[in-house]
Amino acid sequence: MVTAHNLGFPRIGAKRELKFAQEAYWKGQSSREQLQAEGAHLRQQHWAEQTGLDLVPVGDFSFYDQVLDMSFTLGNLPARVRGFHGDALDNYFRVARGRSAQSTDDHTACCGGVAAGEMTKWFDTNYHYIVPEFDAGTSFTLDASRLLDQLAEARAQGVKAKPVIVGPVTYLSLGKSKDGTDKLTLLPALLAVYTQLLDTLAAQGVEWVQIDEPLLVTELDEHWRHAYNTAYHQLKTSKVKLLLATYFGPLLENGYLAANLPVAGLHIDAVRGREDVLPVLNLLPAHKVLSLGVIDGRNIWKTDLNAVLNWLEPIAERLGDRLWIAPSCSLLHVPVDLRSEQKLDAELQSWLAFAVQKLDELRVLATALREGRAAARDALDANRAALAARRASPRVHKPAVQAAVAKIGARLGQRDSAYVKRAPKQAAFLKLPLYPTTTIGSFPQTAEIRHARSEHKAGRLDDAAYQAAMKAEIQRSVREQEALGLDVLVHGEAERNDMVEYFGEQLQGYAFSQFGWVQSYGSRCVKPPILFGDISRPKAMTVEWITYAQSLTQRPMKGMLTGPVTILNWSFVRDDQPRSVSCKQLALAMRDEVLDLEKAGVRVIQIDEAALREGLPLRKAQWQEYLAWAVESFRITANGVRDETQIHTHMCYSEFNDIIEAIAGMDADVITIETSRSDMELLEAFEDFEYPNEIGPGVYDIHSPNIPTQEHIEQLMKKAAERIPAQRLWVNPDCGLKTRQWHEVIPALTHMVAAARALRAEA
Ligand code: GLN
Ligand code: ZN
Repeated sequence: MVTAHNLGFPRIGAKRELKFAQEAYWKGQSSREQLQAEGAHLRQQHWAEQTGLDLVPVGDFSFYDQVLDMSFTLGNLPARVRGFHGDALDNYFRVARGRSAQSTDDHTACCGGVAAGEMTKWFDTNYHYIVPEFDAGTSFTLDASRLLDQLAEARAQGVKAKPVIVGPVTYLSLGKSKDGTDKLTLLPALLAVYTQLLDTLAAQGVEWVQIDEPLLVTELDEHWRHAYNTAYHQLKTSKVKLLLATYFGPLLENGYLAANLPVAGLHIDAVRGREDVLPVLNLLPAHKVLSLGVIDGRNIWKTDLNAVLNWLEPIAERLGDRLWIAPSCSLLHVPVDLRSEQKLDAELQSWLAFAVQKLDELRVLATALREGRAAARDALDANRAALAARRASPRVHKPAVQAAVAKIGARLGQRDSAYVKRAPKQAAFLKLPLYPTTTIGSFPQTAEIRHARSEHKAGRLDDAAYQAAMKAEIQRSVREQEALGLDVLVHGEAERNDMVEYFGEQLQGYAFSQFGWVQSYGSRCVKPPILFGDISRPKAMTVEWITYAQSLTQRPMKGMLTGPVTILNWSFVRDDQPRSVSCKQLALAMRDEVLDLEKAGVRVIQIDEAALREGLPLRKAQWQEYLAWAVESFRITANGVRDETQIHTHMCYSEFNDIIEAIAGMDADVITIETSRSDMELLEAFEDFEYPNEIGPGVYDIHSPNIPTQEHIEQLMKKAAERIPAQRLWVNPDCGLKTRQWHEVIPALTHMVAAARALRAEA
């Protein structure tokens, strides 16, 4: 009989209880015991939601991050926090969050400040883990207490526990060697501790352990493939059964390796890796369990249960007891419970499934496979009806939008002339000096702005009063910029809650949940908007604000938009059409906004693509395809303007080496990027490529409260000018200033403008 299990449950809580408990503890407003109690309460609740499954994950709960948990389990703490006195939990948060030298906790005198562990994205998700640190002196020692405590807790609750750990090869690969040590040389020492850990769990009577190795869905060189063989041949001595869990994509060429590692079972992502299943099935030794992740753990739509059964039943026939079913990956990446939503309309809700509902779907599949579909008739019929309604809904399908996408031709994304011809036309109008100065868009989102927005949302501030408050903010930021002497101004984005949500709220085809939170890192959550239907723009979204801002000044005012690729990548998107199609629909809607701005006399328009890079597929072999439609989408949005209109784009990251050709293909007149922390070194990619258009390399790290000096900015720009001709350089911060305070922004920008003037004088 089929086994139904789960790979991981969101830990944050349906109402973000964990976030509030963490933050209260960090602020000293609650005790360690209160935080621990909230953790235990959440675990208990989450296990209760998983009742009826044959195996339930334990150890997936975390007070910050599961990779950091693993570092603690393995005794791999960065040297800078070793030797700290005090509580393990505080030490844990010290690595997670760092601690300033001015901290007021008990250990300031003895232990000083501590830099936080570096954070980076967990594969292609928006979840960030704390990067393990390695060097030649790294050693490992087991601390199984967290897992054992949670195991005991789960068993006391009658949970059929399956401990979950990050596998050794993925763990090593995710870490960073701080001194150039080859990480793979640490594998033997690491495996010794994993062996101890598995033996410890076996001694507790644990039967199955889920060992997560998502690295197996990426391209591996021979050293890492070899590491897999070494690792799992060593771990097979343990008495527990290992379920090797892979997810986020197909195994492809790693299928043979994964199928033949000496473990008791293999989990594969049968949503993103459906094409993998039959080949793996044929490769799989006859004693092994195959767990199929048939419910999408990365999206919020109901599963087509009848279709899954059509596909699954013959496999179940073939595998019998050896078939397990599960969500495709941990449910960490979806919101907790649809039942919390009070404002989404009933029709839309009937198309959705959050974590709790996904487990319901899993139970229905299990029943149908065990007892026949008749035993799950009602649920299957309801599911079929909901999906049919979604497929037929006029809210989803807009023939005019589809026709417009079908009509997209090469000309649509093409400027009239090449950059060399456009640039002088733009210069003739804009009359900018050498080293023109600008900012990236947002100015501080002050307490007053946020207060006005929440009052407006609550209905206590009427539309007119809210608009007036925002206009006053715009006026303030224009006055400040004029006083600073900036060359190209921005309106400051006071009226925007978020660079994606702001547009999503004004586009048709988007919906917003109240509690659809997903953990991004630590206590930080994001609530991605839900792109459910064909996208259209009922009316202009930014023109009034920008023309108002332009009316306040003689200097050029930048229109400010978010690009289609970023809107797409920061949303939950449709599963009933390719991402590329949704992106092109967004591109057409945003194109209309660009053209409306131009018509209204706006001569500089910035289209932010902050998330273009993070949409890159896990496998390099698929990059070209993604970049092709992503760049085309940007071009559709941006390139309908006349030669005289200057298009800017902004990207707040710094790795361009491997995508520089695509970036150049966007053909923006000006690109602003994040560079201040890299000392302009990353301009090398642009230099080597002979990037032809203008570049504004960020000179001011907006993440830090530090105020850059004029000399430092001058130095950075001089380095930039060694790589890029000065005629094509702009001077600007790394990113928007919404998280800073005015008292930080003013001196920093004063120095920036002074630096630009000094550079001009020397030129
Ligand atoms: N225009 C946006 C801002 O300044 C850009 C933000 C971003 O790139 N993340 O806030
Ligand atoms: Zn940015």
